[in-house]
Amino acid sequence: MCYAIPAKVKKIIDKIAIIDYFGEERKILIDLDDIKVGDYVYAQGGVLVRKILPEEAIEILKHWQEIFFELKKTDEALAKIDTDKLPPNVLGVLQNINLKKTLKREEMLSLLSIENKNELKVLYEIANNIRQREHGNASCVHGIIEFSNYCDQSCYYCGIRKEKNIQRYRMNIDEVIAIAKNAVELYGFKAIVLQSGEDLWYDDEKLITIVKEIRKLGLLIFLSLGQRSKDTYAKLYAAGARAVLIRFETSNQDIFAKLRPGTTLNARIELIKSLKEMGYIIATGFMLGLPGEMNEDIINNILLTKYLAPDMYTFGPLIPSLGTPLVKMPKITKDLVLKTISIARFIDSNCNIVVTTALETLEESAKKEALLAGANSMMINVTPKQYKSLYSIYDNKSGIDVELENSIKETVDLLFKLGRAPTDLGLCCIPSGA
Ligand code: SAM
Repeated sequence: MCYAIPAKVKKIIDKIAIIDYFGEERKILIDLDDIKVGDYVYAQGGVLVRKILPEEAIEILKHWQEIFFELKKTDEALAKIDTDKLPPNVLGVLQNINLKKTLKREEMLSLLSIENKNELKVLYEIANNIRQREHGNASCVHGIIEFSNYCDQSCYYCGIRKEKNIQRYRMNIDEVIAIAKNAVELYGFKAIVLQSGEDLWYDDEKLITIVKEIRKLGLLIFLSLGQRSKDTYAKLYAAGARAVLIRFETSNQDIFAKLRPGTTLNARIELIKSLKEMGYIIATGFMLGLPGEMNEDIINNILLTKYLAPDMYTFGPLIPSLGTPLVKMPKITKDLVLKTISIARFIDSNCNIVVTTALETLEESAKKEALLAGANSMMINVTPKQYKSLYSIYDNKSGIDVELENSIKETVDLLFKLGRAPTDLGLCCIPSGA
């Protein structure tokens, strides 16, 4: 569950607190602040974000209470499925999912090969129904700051690979902190992803300063820096970072070896496992549509993601990028992404699945469709406009011309239409009259 409305601490057992959201209880890790029973807190992904003053919490809760249950009703109505209309084979799969039986590989493959529009509709509806059952209407909305497009790596798919001749930028430490401060103070973000190419100009000392200062703002910090050393990640954990977004990209050793010089799939997986052991919340996943990829690989990708036990699944389509060796790759279909979201939801019903910008770039309307096919998380790019277009990991990236206020408004409007509570944003973002 990814609520970031205020919760009340009901019980504390060692470093775990039981917190309450309008009668729903959740467990969170409370190792960052001094917390006692009766305090009001924000939490994300099972981790305390920060304590808030009771007066402030009560006021926010009053506002939320008025709309929260209304939104829930909309979400429940949209997530209803009419099982009478389901074909027997799909009904069988649904029963297995409801009984929490593990789907067989052949069943996953047959779901992935569905092409019939009516069957696809049913597939997405079932996934949405499970999403609603597991998460209620809570939706995480994290901010992302793309703070440098310098990169030491030569990934064949990536538009900021070191060989590509593009205008490079690197934000200074104060700039990164100021952007995070705005995101919290003006827009109420509770979690921020700090993403860059693999840029060693940011040494441990610089990264620690950034993390410590942003942590003081009361934000959950996701690092998305690529393959930095375990030692660096351990230091950043000590400085207050609590989450890492790092994809393994593909579970197929051969495809990985062809597209990712300078590292191995095993090294990437080992790093993800170590980060989890360090206590980091993990967001991981893969790209869809890499050269040589078969449906079996996509199922393996979903299963590897599950095996790594992340808090959040992140996968999206390859968008072929000019000036990269993969520029001529055909784009995959939106439905392949939606099917993958649904199957991920079936095999790991309680996970968070993020709608990626790459999917929005593939097709604008896909954001809404993904949320109705099992996805429950979103990211909003809070990178200032002058840098956004330079962080060109692929061409025509969705949203680069949109002002931050507008992209927040669009996201919140969409979530409200779907009955979702965009609980990661502050009250400032709830449309008046909602
Ligand atoms: N350097 C960090 C790393 O390697 O994890 C973070 C930045 S990297 C650009 C973030 C992600 O962008 C990669 O994990 C990859 O999956 C995705 N990506 C890169 N090029 C892409 C493309 N052309 N289409 C879609 N996704 C792409």
